[in-house]
Amino acid sequence: MKVMFIGAAHEVTGSCTLLETCGKRFLIDCGMEQGENIYENCDLPVAPCEIDAIFLTHAHIDHSGRIPQMVANGFSGPVYMTGATAKLAGIMLRDSAHIQESEAQWRNRKAKRSGEEEYIPLYTSNDVEKTLPLFISHRYGEVFTPAKGVKVSLHDAGHLLGSSYILFEITEDGVTKSILFSGDIGNINRPLIRTPSKPPHADYAVCESTYGDRLHGKDPDYVGQLASVIGSTLAKGGNVVIPSFAVGRTQEILYLIRIIKENNLCPEAGNFPVYVDSPLGIEATHIYSGEVSEFFDDETREILSKGINPISFPNLRTAITSAESTAINTNTEPKVIISASGMCEAGRIRHHLKHNLWREESTILFAGYQSEGTLGRKLIEGAEYVKIFGDEIKVKSRIAIIDGFSSHGDRNMLLQWLKNVNPDMIFINHGEDGVANEFSLTAERETGKPAYAPFSGDVYDLATGECLEKAIVKKLLSKKNFATKKAKGEYERLRGAGYRLIKLIENCKGMPNKELAKLADQITNLCDKWEK
Ligand SMILES: [Zn+2]
Repeated sequence: MKVMFIGAAHEVTGSCTLLETCGKRFLIDCGMEQGENIYENCDLPVAPCEIDAIFLTHAHIDHSGRIPQMVANGFSGPVYMTGATAKLAGIMLRDSAHIQESEAQWRNRKAKRSGEEEYIPLYTSNDVEKTLPLFISHRYGEVFTPAKGVKVSLHDAGHLLGSSYILFEITEDGVTKSILFSGDIGNINRPLIRTPSKPPHADYAVCESTYGDRLHGKDPDYVGQLASVIGSTLAKGGNVVIPSFAVGRTQEILYLIRIIKENNLCPEAGNFPVYVDSPLGIEATHIYSGEVSEFFDDETREILSKGINPISFPNLRTAITSAESTAINTNTEPKVIISASGMCEAGRIRHHLKHNLWREESTILFAGYQSEGTLGRKLIEGAEYVKIFGDEIKVKSRIAIIDGFSSHGDRNMLLQWLKNVNPDMIFINHGEDGVANEFSLTAERETGKPAYAPFSGDVYDLATGECLEKAIVKKLLSKKNFATKKAKGEYERLRGAGYRLIKLIENCKGMPNKELAKLADQITNLCDKWEK
């Protein structure tokens, strides 16, 4: 039984860990890397078709985004998660494929003109449609057995609707050990979702560290902060632009605005219009409005039981088409605009920033974590000028942040989580380089248990706790070259196809000789063609 750290090692995105036990290989999360890359991630040591199952902690793309790529490259096993995660991951992965296909189209138009090689998307909508039937849902607390000797259960992580910590209890060669993967640990007092559940005990804990160096402060008043920004900005004739993750954060903000409107907390702004300008955000809002009520907290379920939609209110408008999106900026009425992406790296939010950053009377209101190297991070760090669509724009608008409005627990909550798990050994991942190191020292000091922040490629034996392999750390000096990344993606696909062929050959044993000869001829022809 061993664990290999692959992604989100000294980084915040690209979560992926390999667990090998009882003759099986499992991945815990398989996320996309986003923003700036500091370290080169190691390759999966096996082909996608040799992975037996994937376990998904929650739907966010940095945890789920590469699952369709695994399927495109030969993975065909089950993907375990909660019901709400399955619903949300479904729309997020379809959206992710759509973004990649559009990007490929755009790049290929450019490539054609300059005679460059054709650009192939990481995966397509078709790959996502092959992925979704592999999803298998389990309820919180239910124990299931994905393989002999392996018991698994999901526990509410309070980070995003359906998010889980995943506990593995494994017995191999007479040794029983348990390991708990935190996924992302939620914050307390969040709208809509429950406070993170008390985690079960495990011998090993793999704990995230996004906010491992920060405290959120005491009981932040989200409604009060939001009402004050909306009231003061709209009274001046400006817009409040909220860059927001389409799934989760957008619905939480709608929940808060419903309270503001119901209680008339912004009288100066009247019946102000609120636009959700994100097709994915609108789709997620539909899911939140109906199909996942068992995952909500008590307060939200009580509101629902009275027949009230907790995330809807008068003058809530949506923009699905790009014409509807453009129209938001041609109309001068002061308004609140909620749009994606949350870190301003892509999507329609960039148009709204372009139209509002130069306006003194507008406010850009951040309501979430901004990764290093993103436009969002530059703005909260006080950039005077930023570039959007090639144009330099002077930042004159107010830049505000809702304090403590995070879907991640702070340092003390992470420590409390570790104390509750009470493991013999701790692994810290999913944090920026310095933060992961610092939090592993804090965790060791506060719990008295050994804690490590493994790098991509580190392997640990879970029977003994020994480190079996220390990775050679490759630090990337500049932002990862896009072309190299793509080339590697295609090579991985080829390698996956090769392994799939070997598996196919193994399954052909016992077939009629005529069939075997036909396949052998076809493979030989293929080799002859490519060896030339
Ligand atoms: Zn997350």
